[in-house]
Amino acid sequence: MKKKASPKSRRTPKGTYAPETRLIWGESFTPKWDYSHHLIPPISSSSTFRLSTTKRGAKGFIEFAHHAGDFEVQSKAPIYIYDRLGEPNKDLLEQNLATAEHGECAVTFSTGMAAESALCGILLGAGSEIIAHQMLYGCTYSLFKNWLPRYNIKVKWVDFNDKKALVNAISPRTRLLYFETPVNPTMELIDIETVVGMVKQLNQNRTQANRVFVAVDNTFATPFCQRPLEHGVDFVVESLTKGILGFGTDMGGVVVGPSWSYDHLLLYRKDFGGVLSSKSAWPILVYGLPSLAVRFRQQIQTAQQVAEYLEQDKRIGLVNYPGLDSFKQRGIARQQMQNYDKEFAPGVLMYFIPKGKTPAERHRKADRIVNYIADNSYTMTLAVSLGNIRTLIEHPGSMTHSSIPPDEQLKRGIDPGGIRLSIGLEKPKDIIHDLQQALAAM
Ligand SMILES: *Cc1c(COP(=O)(O)O)cnc(C)c1O
Repeated sequence: MKKKASPKSRRTPKGTYAPETRLIWGESFTPKWDYSHHLIPPISSSSTFRLSTTKRGAKGFIEFAHHAGDFEVQSKAPIYIYDRLGEPNKDLLEQNLATAEHGECAVTFSTGMAAESALCGILLGAGSEIIAHQMLYGCTYSLFKNWLPRYNIKVKWVDFNDKKALVNAISPRTRLLYFETPVNPTMELIDIETVVGMVKQLNQNRTQANRVFVAVDNTFATPFCQRPLEHGVDFVVESLTKGILGFGTDMGGVVVGPSWSYDHLLLYRKDFGGVLSSKSAWPILVYGLPSLAVRFRQQIQTAQQVAEYLEQDKRIGLVNYPGLDSFKQRGIARQQMQNYDKEFAPGVLMYFIPKGKTPAERHRKADRIVNYIADNSYTMTLAVSLGNIRTLIEHPGSMTHSSIPPDEQLKRGIDPGGIRLSIGLEKPKDIIHDLQQALAAM
């Protein structure tokens, strides 16, 4: 049966349109779904799907019938069977996420952490080794530190800005290099192309089965500000809970990568079960991704103004925001943090430290600023998470990164006085007003 394509897919090939446009419309008609008569695709709220014959049911299972190590079947299930194997809302969202990140395929998960676990699951096995940048999001640190070693996966911590140390850390067992850029929470950057170039060289002497992969957690930047796949990495993982949804109502995660990984990720998701609920996929698809560009354009402008305000204040010792001229890695920032129009897009997050002679004094001051804001500020809220339309502030040392022991935090670059600020959609002057009051109370 040949169906007439929907009007939206008939004219110009969709690749000619800008990513921002494609994130508004997505694909309303494919062999697996037909929403060409809906303006907005409905929430698919069905855990299971009617199968007309056993033969047709068997066809749907083909893509999941093979076992680990035998992945020739390219997933093209003609029908849906059961939500954990796949359903239309997630598939629609995954197509758009692949578009957003310029990747070949995307597979969503229940949270960012579930996506990270899946990536580790498909690439690593007993005896293999992961090399991670010395500073990571606290839960990622905990996953690598507390869980991977239980499966006999070795974790090495290296400063990815020290190329020599990185080269020396790589062994024949190394399968994955993993980092964030900007690094949560310090806003330090890793030069993606330097790492990729090094690994490319290395892989020339390795068989396909032994090759080293590079993965970037792109949660901080979002694909609006940075697309690591364009710089040659193999995989992007990110939380959808943060900037991509932006409204703070749902959780989700995604792995974007080469098409060969699609089957592995689907099979992993089916068997480990960290599937994104269709009711959470839907707002990310309908509200989050389509509004990402317009939100972030505005939020970046505000972040720039707030960072400039903090920087000129004598009571502040350091402001790390990639958009500032004083930012140490300004060159790398401009090279790899760009929006879809190749304009500099330094993101919505910053890290700042109040002046103080000792770490204890800086910690006390940070405490006073953040607690004052928690009690008195209208435009800022003491809360973890980031990339939200509401401005959020937190103290990484005692909150998001508390799984890293204090002495390790210092060694790896987190100051006890460090404060993380995620800028929302409020008017810049209002955020600055509330910051002025908090600094006066410090
Ligand atoms: C929040 C976050 C995660 C985890 O995402 P969840 O959706 O909360 O599981 C991973 N990496 C970074 C950098 C994050 O900020």
